[in-house]
Amino acid sequence: MKDIQIGGLVSFTTIDYPGKLAAVLFLVGCPLRCAYCSNPHLLSIHDGEYDPDKVFEWLKSRVGKLEAVVFSGGEALMHGEALINYMHRVKELGFAIGLHTNGFYPETLKKASDVVDWIGLDYKATRTKYPELVGQNIAHDHMIKSLNIWLETGKDFEVRITCDPRFITKLDLMEIANDLHSRGVKKFAVQKYVPHFEDSTHNTTPEQRSQFFNDDNLRNTINELFESVTWRESN
Ligand code: SF4
Repeated sequence: MKDIQIGGLVSFTTIDYPGKLAAVLFLVGCPLRCAYCSNPHLLSIHDGEYDPDKVFEWLKSRVGKLEAVVFSGGEALMHGEALINYMHRVKELGFAIGLHTNGFYPETLKKASDVVDWIGLDYKATRTKYPELVGQNIAHDHMIKSLNIWLETGKDFEVRITCDPRFITKLDLMEIANDLHSRGVKKFAVQKYVPHFEDSTHNTTPEQRSQFFNDDNLRNTINELFESVTWRESN
């Protein structure tokens, strides 16, 4: 049976699954090529540095110590049925299952929705700017399909955006917030762009990167649209 490929692991985190102590597994492979990607070593499919069976044995030793396991990437849903099977095995150990996803695989997300308890969904830019940022023409449409699928489940989730000033303006952020509000999203997270050392094309200033966080008017307007808004400024 085909197995998942794991390229990274965080053994303990308090910030990747809301309210739960978690481990994060980073699966290799991603259909997108975001300009700001901080995990370029995970983008192409390869064998992965971690044996999934050994990771599973390690997870058994974490029962009672951790509460959740988050699948991230790359794009974990690229692993299809192999991922869903692995998630079921992990869930049987008693862990809540989290998923960080760019929303590119709505049908797989639908299949995984029985086993996944919470997702963090990336909304990367306005529809017009999506292709330039992610290198893919249909990614925005797929992400919206994923959003609609998850809304139908009624399960908890967060939509997050990384504010890279090369691709996002304050007006864009407002447009995106209004779009999410109109779709019934309750939890929104606005993340600061921090240039990755391999992102050699970035030429933004600290002021440009902070502009979304220093504007009280913008923050208050967005805060009023959602049940909760998390402003993630430090990394
Ligand atoms: S979706 Fe995530 S992993 Fe994939 S290229 Fe974009 S930032 Fe990198």
